[in-house]
Amino acid sequence: MVLAVRYPEQLGTIPHAFINGAGCSGVGAVRPLTDPATGRVFLETNESSPEQAQNAVQAAKAALPAWSDTAPGKRADVLFRLAGLIEAQADELAVVEALNVGKPLSQAKRDVGRAADYFRFYAGCCDKLNGDTIPLGPDKTALTVMEPVGVTVHILPWNYPISTLARGVAPALAAGATVVAKPSELTPLSAIMVAQLAIEAGLLDGVLNVVCGAGSVGETLCTHPDTAHVTFTGSTQTGRSVMQSASAPIAGVTLELGGKSPVVVLADADLDAAADGIAKGIFFNAGQVCAAGARLICDRSVHDDLLEKLIQAAQKLTIGHPLDDPDLGPLVSSDQLSRVEGFVVRAKEAGFRCVTGGQRARPKGLEGGLFYEPTIFADVPANSEIAQSEIFGPVLITQLCDTFDEALTLSNNSPFGLVAGIYTANVTKAMRYARQVEAGQVFINGFLQGGDTVPFGGVKQSGIGREKGLAGLAAYTVEKSIVLNHAEGQL
Ligand code: NAD
Repeated sequence: MVLAVRYPEQLGTIPHAFINGAGCSGVGAVRPLTDPATGRVFLETNESSPEQAQNAVQAAKAALPAWSDTAPGKRADVLFRLAGLIEAQADELAVVEALNVGKPLSQAKRDVGRAADYFRFYAGCCDKLNGDTIPLGPDKTALTVMEPVGVTVHILPWNYPISTLARGVAPALAAGATVVAKPSELTPLSAIMVAQLAIEAGLLDGVLNVVCGAGSVGETLCTHPDTAHVTFTGSTQTGRSVMQSASAPIAGVTLELGGKSPVVVLADADLDAAADGIAKGIFFNAGQVCAAGARLICDRSVHDDLLEKLIQAAQKLTIGHPLDDPDLGPLVSSDQLSRVEGFVVRAKEAGFRCVTGGQRARPKGLEGGLFYEPTIFADVPANSEIAQSEIFGPVLITQLCDTFDEALTLSNNSPFGLVAGIYTANVTKAMRYARQVEAGQVFINGFLQGGDTVPFGGVKQSGIGREKGLAGLAAYTVEKSIVLNHAEGQL
């Protein structure tokens, strides 16, 4: 049943930016936010102007001494309180996120929970940023201290707005750095709500700022002379220009970029478990997931059985309004829908076999929504466009192999290297695959089986640096070394 969509009342009260501890209106271009399931504009916002972006960096710079000098235990208190406030407001945050992104409500709730978990994990790290001592003989001592990197800029995508915000902002704040975040122009709301909650949690004014708008706002932040680090999550193409922009202030970069991740299934695998993991790995969030398992590389002897299970799984998925919590919501925007349609049309024109889906979905009452059917192309050539490019939609391709080595070669035949998976009963082969596949993270017998405290990031064109876990702190700390001469007569 389609809800008579209840747009939350608080939507109208969310400011358009958050600078120096206060919400404010944007003074840039008008940006209507649209419910992708209905096409209805649910909020008119204004983008931030270049001056507002600069003011946000200035506020973050001004707040740096006080925040970095705040005792680690007190910083932890604030972040723990923020985690609690996010959880207390989880229902409202999830509705806003579901509506803005088009993601099913239970998936949005999970993202909000993950955001709270990131703040809680990094709260626990505030007082554990230990340095080192280095032996230099009896008369000298060298020690290192971990200092905050400075003003950090966080540029976010639209597919996981609140959890990608938290996974970068939480370690930055834990390290004593200050933040200017720029969410995607399509999905700005949850970042602003988190910044409001942070003030309620006791964060000092100016420590966490949010400005909104398109790429030019991000570019202003990346090129600002006071920016010390840029954490960017988005497409590989934009990542390249962010890297270039960040070269102006010689800022560090963490780049979390795109993927076309392989999942290998060998002949001895548990096919039911594989089908379950692969279907979730490509159809979750309508396939708009950087780590989606978009390429199934399957032993020829079990391919048709597994394909049949996957077709059945795809056809069982419910499609509807995000607030009705179906399995699949709409794609985020008409641009994204056209992108997915373009890949599918070209693959069909090239003669590839589409075994399920392959067109827009038109659920009853939501015929104008931006929905796309879960789609599978079978036995696709390795160097075709649909096998090589990130589609970022609910489209799986399969490729056949006869040997383990062929599976490995096909896996590595990609410009990307974000994650990879393998299903097999043979631990020797699984571990050999894990070591030899070009990816930042490998899942054995359970694709995307969780791990938000496990380091995450890509190799090749999927990115630079790591987020999550203790590794996620490295970008936000600078190790300073101090050498003290304490020989007699020197002090
Ligand atoms: P995108 O690259 O279009 O935009 C990402 C962000 O960059 C947005 O906030 C956008 O406004 C901003 N931006 C655009 N041009 C800019 C510029 N020149 N300078 C600074 N900022 C600029 O990506 P998207 O469409 O929002 O997200 C989808 C992409 O993100 C996919 O490729 C996906 O794989 C990737 N992604 C990666 C991860 C990861 O962790 N590796 C996670 C989520 C999404």
